[in-house]
Amino acid sequence: MQATENLISQTTGAQLLDGKVTAQRIREEVTQGTALLRERGVTVGLGVVLVGDDPASHVYVGMKERACRETGIVSISSRLPANATQEQVLSAVRELNERPDVHGILVQHPLPHGLDEDEVFATIAPHKDVDGVGAVSMGRLIADQPAFAACTAAGIIELLDAYNIEVKGRECVVVGRSLIVGKPAALLLLRKHGTVTICHSRTQDLAFHTRRADILIAAIGKAEFITGDMIKEGAVVVDAGYNRIEGRKGDVGDVQFESARERASFITPVPGGVGPMTIAMLMKQTLQAAQNSQK
Ligand code: NDP
Repeated sequence: MQATENLISQTTGAQLLDGKVTAQRIREEVTQGTALLRERGVTVGLGVVLVGDDPASHVYVGMKERACRETGIVSISSRLPANATQEQVLSAVRELNERPDVHGILVQHPLPHGLDEDEVFATIAPHKDVDGVGAVSMGRLIADQPAFAACTAAGIIELLDAYNIEVKGRECVVVGRSLIVGKPAALLLLRKHGTVTICHSRTQDLAFHTRRADILIAAIGKAEFITGDMIKEGAVVVDAGYNRIEGRKGDVGDVQFESARERASFITPVPGGVGPMTIAMLMKQTLQAAQNSQK
């Protein structure tokens, strides 16, 4: 592990929580972990189910498969056409559940319209649910039992840990309650003894809550929705969002970076903050699933 100081890059205001550097370090650790298992005759495998031809899903799966190659994980692909039936998708998952060379399973979502995503996620064997999408994984998270959390949420916590940011006893406000980011992030913060508030689209006076936050997590999906005046002086701000704005180059987060960094003590950039952590956590949790299978 590099010294924490080396991870800290200075902006004019807040220090950057550098997801690129942190994710790279995790990927190196995963590479070491997969090499150790290989010496013991175990090749770490990730089963990937991709249904249909959504271009964004193909790009994400391509990035994940590349990350697998770089970290010594074999990806075992199951590609189905857009008109695949529910039963075909379920049997692809069941097949991966049965394979001993597959330690983790990723079902790229969203699935094409008409397929029951919840049933597909529920079919993934919980010990292989490295993307943390199944209801059993979520239930275990709530019950404080070992479970894989959704990778973006897990990545947010890993990033806080990388910078030694204390969660215990602090006011944590999560804006967003999706199953893949907001809710699991809130549960993980609670696990670390934060005092957690979850806000959403029906929250009244959002700024009242965000201004109380020592740690503010934005997972909204609305470009630059959280502005500097909504942030407490010295807060840690983690922005999971990435949004396209018509006529502007690149992605922007859910937080207005320029005004937020004047008030925050730490802040994630977009891109280069939470984004790279998601794939790194998928690799890390796949390795963990393989390690667990050897116990
Ligand atoms: P969802 O659309 O599933 O959830 C958005 C959440 O924001 C909902 O809970 C919604 O509330 C809440 N919300 C919407 N409008 C408001 C508002 N005006 N005030 C307060 N809360 C509001 O999004 P995701 O959780 O999937 O994604 C969130 C962001 O994170 C997106 O920008 C997405 O692109 C990004 N993302 C990034 C990933 C990465 O790898 N970096 C991975 C996944 C997502 P309600 O529940 O009431 O509708």
